[in-house]
Amino acid sequence: MANNQPIFILPADTQRFKGRDALSMNINACKTLAGIIRTTLGPKGMDKMLTDSLGDIILTNDGATIVREMDITQPAARMLVEIAKKQEDVVGDGTTSVIVVAGELLSKAQELLEDGYSTPLVIKGFRDGLAKALEVLNDISINSKDKDTLLKIAQTAITGKGAEFEKEMLSDLIVDAALRVEEDGKVDKERINIQRISGDSVKDSFIVDGLIVDKAPMSKSLPRDIKDAKIAVLKYPIEFKKTNIDSKVQITDPSQMQAFIDNEKEMLKDIVDKVIASGADVLFCQKGIDEAAENALTHAGIISYKRVRNTDIERISKATGAKFVSNIDDLNSESLGHAGHYYVDKIFDHEVTFLEKCEDPKATSIILRGSTRHVTEEVKRALDDALGVVAATIEDGKVVVGGAACEIELIKQIKSYAETISGKEQIAILSFADAFEVIPRTLAENAGLDTIDMVTNLKASHENSKNMGLDVINGEIVDMEKEGVLEPLKVKFQAINSASEACEMILRIDDMVAARGALESTGTDESGNDDSGMPPMGGMPGGMPGGMGGMPPMM
Ligand code: ADP
Ligand code: MG
Repeated sequence: MANNQPIFILPADTQRFKGRDALSMNINACKTLAGIIRTTLGPKGMDKMLTDSLGDIILTNDGATIVREMDITQPAARMLVEIAKKQEDVVGDGTTSVIVVAGELLSKAQELLEDGYSTPLVIKGFRDGLAKALEVLNDISINSKDKDTLLKIAQTAITGKGAEFEKEMLSDLIVDAALRVEEDGKVDKERINIQRISGDSVKDSFIVDGLIVDKAPMSKSLPRDIKDAKIAVLKYPIEFKKTNIDSKVQITDPSQMQAFIDNEKEMLKDIVDKVIASGADVLFCQKGIDEAAENALTHAGIISYKRVRNTDIERISKATGAKFVSNIDDLNSESLGHAGHYYVDKIFDHEVTFLEKCEDPKATSIILRGSTRHVTEEVKRALDDALGVVAATIEDGKVVVGGAACEIELIKQIKSYAETISGKEQIAILSFADAFEVIPRTLAENAGLDTIDMVTNLKASHENSKNMGLDVINGEIVDMEKEGVLEPLKVKFQAINSASEACEMILRIDDMVAARGALESTGTDESGNDDSGMPPMGGMPGGMPGGMGGMPPMM
């Protein structure tokens, strides 16, 4: 019997990349992604313009938003997208850094592998380096969570974003809001509603002690200012909707038609009566309200809102304590919520509703203004970042200095630790340390500064002080603590930890098996292979509609 008979265990059209091919494909994909993202890092970082499949434009500097909108399909690069999302969920900032650092760690690993180091050795060295890095981070962190620190933390997060020109005032708003909702050292970010209303400028933003609903009441005749308002929240329609199912009612004579209409009216009247009986002053209905029913409600003095967005409904319910009623029979005085002050007011050109002094005293809103939707969207992303870092600092009470001061100190201390380790592992730890240079290098590069000069001088400055970092505006090396450039320890901790974890996971992959097409480019190159002999990166060029210059050259 022939023993060299090939055995097929996979369908013939399955794509498979093994060993070093798989690894270099993955590393190159991640390096490319990091290369795209890195130009947005820091106060002098640039923005990206993205268009989604519907043609909507997004202008942003936010790492997590960019990678989310890019629709990346290459599996390893997707792992970096995941860590950026996780970074956003956990701490709300540092999303660009985490991808940039992960890309650089992989790049360093690739160099080591090309020099003949084994994968397990690289992983071991990187793990040791990581353990040391986290220890150093803790050592160099500063214990502080006073208001002044929180303001600086917020400002650092906002610097470089579209909102930078109003960063002081926006930081005030964020810190104010965070301190309002703080409870036992924790900040429930959900309680802060950032509501965007276009028109006027960012500096017209303000904070509300309660909720704001971007809607006006249906009736124009009822009072627009009520003290101690009783609020009903209904998920039940007060109208008869055309059903999705094709239903036919056979009517044979006119009296039947009248009976049918009367029956509908009767049912609506019944619903309206139940709303009136509950004693509600204001009704927020997630579904539609029939005109006749609305008239009846107005007649009874009940202010009504129809088709209120689900997110608003949830917020109203949470803030006022109103029960979310989805069956009209459950609506009664018990299910009503309470707002100390209900009123309708005009912001710029449209009317919005305020619910202040709510049952939950901690419900807080920030009304974010800006000339256009693109402005308010990007400012909102900056505020989300700022809220994330402020909340993290209130909870953790530990900060580190920014402007690459912390990364330079990490390099220094991890390197001196490496000196104590002998053999090949030392080289891997040194490489791990060197990866952090990507942060000062990129900050300098994005600011148009001489990167080699800056990094060399920064390193020299750390002989005397661990706080020296890069003032990208003036191109000088300054004490970042004095400068007030602070970041939460948690942001750095999470970023370095998850970048290292992702790097290790990617290094461990030595075989990629995919159904035909899954690893293929969705871009213009249909051949499935480019000239570099490297398998294509799925999705990246195709994911950026309008051909945003495609990808930077691969190495
Ligand atoms: P990320 O998404 O990673 O937060 P950013 O674009 O917000 O990316 O840039 C963060 C980097 O910019 C951090 O390394 C931070 O220390 C640095 N940075 C922020 N403000 C300043 C400043 N005023 N001077 C120098 N560096 C700064
Ligand atoms: Mg940031």
